[in-house]
Amino acid sequence: MADLEYSLLAEFYEKIESTSSRLAMTDLLVGLFRKTPPEVIDKLVYLTRGVLGPDYEAPELGVAEKLALKAVAQALGVGQKEVDEAYKKLGDIGLVVEELMNKRKPSSLLDFFGGASISSKPLTVGRVYDSLVNIAKATGPGAQDTKITILVSLLKDAKPKEARYLLRAVTGKLRLGVADMTIIDALSAAFAGSKAMKPVIERAYNVHPDLGYIAKVLAERGLEGIKEVKVTVGIPVKPMLAERLNDPEEILRKLGGSCLVEYKYDGERVQAHKKGDNVYLFSRRLENITSHYPDVVEMVRENVKAEEAVLEGEIVALNPDTGEMLPFQELMHRRRKYDVEEAMEAYPVAVFPFDILYVNGESLLDLPLPERKKRLAEVIREGDRFRLARFTVASSAEEILKFFEEAVSEGCEGVMCKSQSPDSIYQMGARGWLWVKFKRDYRYEMTDTVDLVVVGAFYGRGKRAGTYGALLMAAYSPEEDVFKTVCKVGSGFSDEDLAQLPKLLEPYRIDHRHPRVVSRMEADVWFVPAVVLEVIGAEITLSPMHTCALGRIRPEAGLAIRFPRFTGRYRVDKKPEDATTEEELIEIYKLQRKVALPKAPVEAA
Ligand code: AMP
Repeated sequence: MADLEYSLLAEFYEKIESTSSRLAMTDLLVGLFRKTPPEVIDKLVYLTRGVLGPDYEAPELGVAEKLALKAVAQALGVGQKEVDEAYKKLGDIGLVVEELMNKRKPSSLLDFFGGASISSKPLTVGRVYDSLVNIAKATGPGAQDTKITILVSLLKDAKPKEARYLLRAVTGKLRLGVADMTIIDALSAAFAGSKAMKPVIERAYNVHPDLGYIAKVLAERGLEGIKEVKVTVGIPVKPMLAERLNDPEEILRKLGGSCLVEYKYDGERVQAHKKGDNVYLFSRRLENITSHYPDVVEMVRENVKAEEAVLEGEIVALNPDTGEMLPFQELMHRRRKYDVEEAMEAYPVAVFPFDILYVNGESLLDLPLPERKKRLAEVIREGDRFRLARFTVASSAEEILKFFEEAVSEGCEGVMCKSQSPDSIYQMGARGWLWVKFKRDYRYEMTDTVDLVVVGAFYGRGKRAGTYGALLMAAYSPEEDVFKTVCKVGSGFSDEDLAQLPKLLEPYRIDHRHPRVVSRMEADVWFVPAVVLEVIGAEITLSPMHTCALGRIRPEAGLAIRFPRFTGRYRVDKKPEDATTEEELIEIYKLQRKVALPKAPVEAA
């Protein structure tokens, strides 16, 4: 098979390292690509990016330095101490091996001229790449020895400069800083005549984000081949990104006067690919996260009616007992490698699909959002934990704000405002003005407890089947002599509390909402207001779901306690009329300390 000498690549790397101009870097790459046989151009591209494949399926590079130093000692026949000391001095394993090789006395004429040993076969891009893959894939007992053996055999055939880059590559330290866009520029110039064809190549790359593959298609079949690159089930598409604004008026102006407003769930983005019974899940960074979420795999299998589909949604952690949404951090438990089954039980999740990119052979990328939404709804069978992302259509700032408050009080980060104009396509890989996120730049902090009255309850699920999962809690309004709801509390209860609550509440149970209770929520069970519990939450927010202070601060919004928790104190000393009042809650809301949220939070995976 046609191949390229690794020495050419090493020379190229050396030149790249001394270049500070992006233009010169691109020109160097163009020259290299033109010399590379198409058969190995994918491997060359991976090596140059310092990886072994596309992000979604690359074997992990990164042999421990200690192991690599051992291989150096073995390959050069030098004492380990000498190697380790050189490393201490130079701090770069690549320079260590190069220096030691240069110091080594040539043992034969051939060695003298070639810088390599007698029986050497020159290193090629293909051989280096394949060896690095074998090193990365070696696992289990004996893996260390296998890795060393492969590395030693490469080093024996390497010239000093080749060894420098080889060792940097194998330890994951080859940092040339060649950006993907520079590679695309160079590919365009080398195989499409000029950089002008870059958008066509970029599109193919967004649909199939594997630069090695893109380079190979271009080198072998040119632009015609590239234009045929299509969405493929099992290969993640580069996700569309959102701009950010904090003013609903401005958002509306940007989006043409009206837009689709959707809950911005606080979880992990997922791109789910389905082909028959096979399901693959990819993160926003295109990592394959299928193994973290066997339950999501099952949901996609069961609830996506198409034979083949690619959809996007958010995975959100749930409180296993109440079914309420939890913050993003709770999902981290699902990232572990072992005991996935156990984690699945303890940390259940829900999925909220919000977009669809492909169905049964048809790409939907260029359809406007309202049509994609329609297709999504047709393909999905909603279930308890698999529900379409909640959205509405808004044409005033007031409507956006109202929906925003509802979203926040339900545990979301804010809302996503999405264009629904005829050109509202799925803009792969790009941050654009078709999607605008609207998040808070501050939150409040609730520091005091409140005493609230139990007015209703919701049946529990999971471990709490047979008892109550959450209680509907209300504050008192002395002026009207009624109880108005502020939250559903499901956290903070011990097993003992859970066992005793139904007994405690039984005498007050009635089959309809009590006339002194004002509620917009429909509880499973209603009670005569009697039992008072102490509750604390993360903050008090505005919410259209609750009736406490409804319309007092903003039209159509009441007050809600976010992430509420029972403190363990039954306020048996208090009558319901002694509970925290509506006025007191308004005061607490106004006096809450504002806590600034980071402007550009660390991107969720
Ligand atoms: P950010 O991470 O703040 O840039 O916001 C973008 C992220 O919001 C996406 O990557 C998704 O993970 C998440 N998200 C939550 N809900 C939605 C939604 N309805 N539409 C789009 N993205 C959403």
